[in-house]
Amino acid sequence: MERTTEKQLGKEEFLNFFRKIPKAEIHLHLEAVISRDTVRRFIRRRNPEFDDERAEQEIGRIFTYSDLNGFIKAYLAVQDLYDSPADFNDVFRDLRDYLVRNGIKYAEIFAAPSAFIKKGWDFSEIVSVYMKNVIKIETETGIKVRILIDVSRTFGFENAEKNLQLLLANMTPVIIGIGLGGSETNGPARLFGSVFEKARSRGLVTVAHAGEDVGPESVWDTINILRAARIGHGISSAGDEKLIDELVRRNIPLEVCPTSNVFTRKFVSTMKEHPIRKFFDRGITVTLNSDDPLFFGVELLDEYWNAYAEIGFSLAELRKIAENSFRASFIGDDEKAKFIDAVGKAWDGNPATAR
Ligand SMILES: [Zn+2]
Repeated sequence: MERTTEKQLGKEEFLNFFRKIPKAEIHLHLEAVISRDTVRRFIRRRNPEFDDERAEQEIGRIFTYSDLNGFIKAYLAVQDLYDSPADFNDVFRDLRDYLVRNGIKYAEIFAAPSAFIKKGWDFSEIVSVYMKNVIKIETETGIKVRILIDVSRTFGFENAEKNLQLLLANMTPVIIGIGLGGSETNGPARLFGSVFEKARSRGLVTVAHAGEDVGPESVWDTINILRAARIGHGISSAGDEKLIDELVRRNIPLEVCPTSNVFTRKFVSTMKEHPIRKFFDRGITVTLNSDDPLFFGVELLDEYWNAYAEIGFSLAELRKIAENSFRASFIGDDEKAKFIDAVGKAWDGNPATAR
């Protein structure tokens, strides 16, 4: 409704304005925020005979995939290029630049250690590099980052259980919980109930990807068996009215990543028909996120623009979604209120209502 009375913003004006609106991003994979430059450098280090052009060809080869499982293979191929935990210093630098570029003031990021542990790296060393870099980002930019360890569903229950045990032996204040990512078709949520229960009993928060590649039954299992506090994607919920009601009733937020969902094509084929509109209208706490910036060539601000220009959200609705990003996060209530207040203050410069 408000859309008709709002002045329509062009892309540049929109992006400049939304860059200044404080936002949280709560569904972002650390290993996917690595920049193309860093990947190219890692490829050339591994293959000293390659020039930049040859390295670019290699990136093109790695990035040829057409479904979620193909994407996961590419994801693992990029992780394979890391030589030591010190490589995370470069990845966190890329993360810092990404957060600054997109006006993100708080981030909860997934870090997936499985592939690195399989290389024989010491988890405590990985954690100390994470911690050092999170502190560095906050010191340099004031942006707070917290980590959710993706225990991973791709390699089975025992691997997830092992990852949790490693985490429990290496607790730090910057790691606040666990997530469940990876192949939803190969690792059904119901297998991981005891891992989630144990994590919560030790004070960790729990979230899980669900309804990205599998139907609403995966989301039901995730809220009933895993009892996850938030759902990553949750797109297949659109076809189950009872499930939508339940997500509203239990106030379980969705971490929606529109471009990623259009890529996966399982439940969304075009941006215009993305069910985030339905979720929002039905009262679910929806948030916008980029998921895997490097792989999908999309950043958080692009997703706000897509929601505005393609899906048809008004600026006022996008303000609510920006506020939701803090509401749905795991920061304390006082901090949430402070951030939401900051959104309001930044909103005063809204170019669509400015005279
Ligand atoms: Zn994800």
